[in-house]
Amino acid sequence: MLKGIAASAGYAIARVYKLEQPVVTIEKKEGVEPTTEIAKFDAALSKTKADIEAIKAQAEGKLSDEELAVFDAHLMMASDPEFEGQIKSMIENDHVNAEYAADTVAANTVAMFESMDNDYFRERAADVKDVTFRLKCNLLGVLIPNLSLVDEDSIIVAHDLTPSDTAQLNQYAKGFATAIGGRTSHSAIMARSLEVPAVVGCAGVMEACQHGDLMILDAVNGEVIVNPDEATIKEYEAKAQAYKEEKEALKVLLHAETITVDGHQVELAGNIGTPKDVEGVINNGGEGVGLYRTEFLYMNSQEFPTEDEQFEAYKTVLEGMNGKKVVVRTLDIGGDKKLSYFTFPEEMNPFLGYRAIRLCLDRKDIFRTQLRALIRASKYGKLCIMFPMIATLDEFREAKGVFEEEKAKLIAEGVEVSDSIEVGMMVEIPAAAVNADNFAKEADFFSIGTNDLVQYSMAADRMSEKVSYLYQPLNPSLLRLIKMTIDGAHKNGRWVGMCGEMAGDAMAAPVLLGLGLDEFSMSATSILPARKMINSLKKSEMEEMANKALTLATSSEVTQLIKDTLNK
Ligand code: PEP
Ligand code: MG
Repeated sequence: MLKGIAASAGYAIARVYKLEQPVVTIEKKEGVEPTTEIAKFDAALSKTKADIEAIKAQAEGKLSDEELAVFDAHLMMASDPEFEGQIKSMIENDHVNAEYAADTVAANTVAMFESMDNDYFRERAADVKDVTFRLKCNLLGVLIPNLSLVDEDSIIVAHDLTPSDTAQLNQYAKGFATAIGGRTSHSAIMARSLEVPAVVGCAGVMEACQHGDLMILDAVNGEVIVNPDEATIKEYEAKAQAYKEEKEALKVLLHAETITVDGHQVELAGNIGTPKDVEGVINNGGEGVGLYRTEFLYMNSQEFPTEDEQFEAYKTVLEGMNGKKVVVRTLDIGGDKKLSYFTFPEEMNPFLGYRAIRLCLDRKDIFRTQLRALIRASKYGKLCIMFPMIATLDEFREAKGVFEEEKAKLIAEGVEVSDSIEVGMMVEIPAAAVNADNFAKEADFFSIGTNDLVQYSMAADRMSEKVSYLYQPLNPSLLRLIKMTIDGAHKNGRWVGMCGEMAGDAMAAPVLLGLGLDEFSMSATSILPARKMINSLKKSEMEEMANKALTLATSSEVTQLIKDTLNK
């Protein structure tokens, strides 16, 4: 059994699909029978072409035409009669094995293309390498992993999954386990929005299993078991069943209000990454969208999305939520979130560097396009816009100023615009939390981003496992920052939400309720458990507990206080 971090709750029992580029070594065998080798070669070549066709078909609609063209180039290469002819003659003349012949012919072709002083031929060299690699793997019966081709129930095991890997997961991916990552890494966030159980930060998982091994993924407790015995399988099948039933039972709360025993109402909203995620929020009883991370629109694109493309996405979300509140965050790119078509400056600390609102205020062309798309979409629902990574009031004023300019321009152009768009900000930098009462005079609302607020308060990179012990949202220093934010807002009649992972944490909810948080925004699957819990609590008791928590010294003291209070 291996321990990791439960990043997206649930259970899965399935065969391992290992996402790892295989290493192939080619041996030369002489004196082999040419007809057998040629038959083997023909079969492997047909499979190679079929594989490329299948990958291309899966990628259609997801990749740009330019990227899809690569598959055509590969198909052309695999169908090149000269390439095929050379390999076959080598097998016939030298009586060598097919993979050795393919390897040798390919190496010669690559060397010839690479020696040419021409970009076109150098790209062809890359095509030959790719196609021959696939061909050699097929000759040797070695699997080249491709997530979109998974066709039986599997648990995906990888060192890490990039956002584009996660985009390829299909209905057969029953869960995933990765060696690195934490609860707030983007693979974890994606897993929750896809509602796929996931264990991340599971060191040693790649070494512990082989492709095809049976695995139990316990993404409730953050555990992975490789090749379990019958009794363990039975035990986990029962746990998975109970978990499913518990989830079913929560459905009675789908349309219920979120209201404490003593009548204090709060709002439970969902975090989304794409318009498709709206369905999950609705199906899990979300009362709104508390965070739409628009950067995925930019990350899943080959160039900056146009105003019209963005407009369509925002309109879809607003219409999908049917008049319920939608908080859209403007582009939060940089740090660990990069774009293939934009060069970021080299920086020692990208998380502290040129990112989010800093980049948008520097590149107002990018910012204006997004704001225009949002303002145009505003008439389709209840839109709130928020800016990420605000540190100073000057930044907020400048960003809001750009918003006002674009709004005025659109109105002058005769575009219908909602007159009730709220403009707020993320509180995720300690400087903003400490100065919240001043920000609240100008911002319509706050949403506390604890993923970053913890990272910046503790000076602990949220991507680093080595310092993950400092991810302590319940540390009194964090609670004090949250209190300052909420008090600063309420003094000025503003509402405060939280869209960091802490909002969906069962241990944190009682204390956040006590501190006066108005809106909790979380991954869709956490909404119903959170409603069940809040509906069982008394606001007055939670206030008392929160006040006590603020006087404590350590995170573990706060955790103990919460446990004691809840078990009373
Ligand atoms: C946060 O920082 O808490 C947050 C919600 O934003 P992200 O995780 O996208 O940085
Ligand atoms: Mg953030």
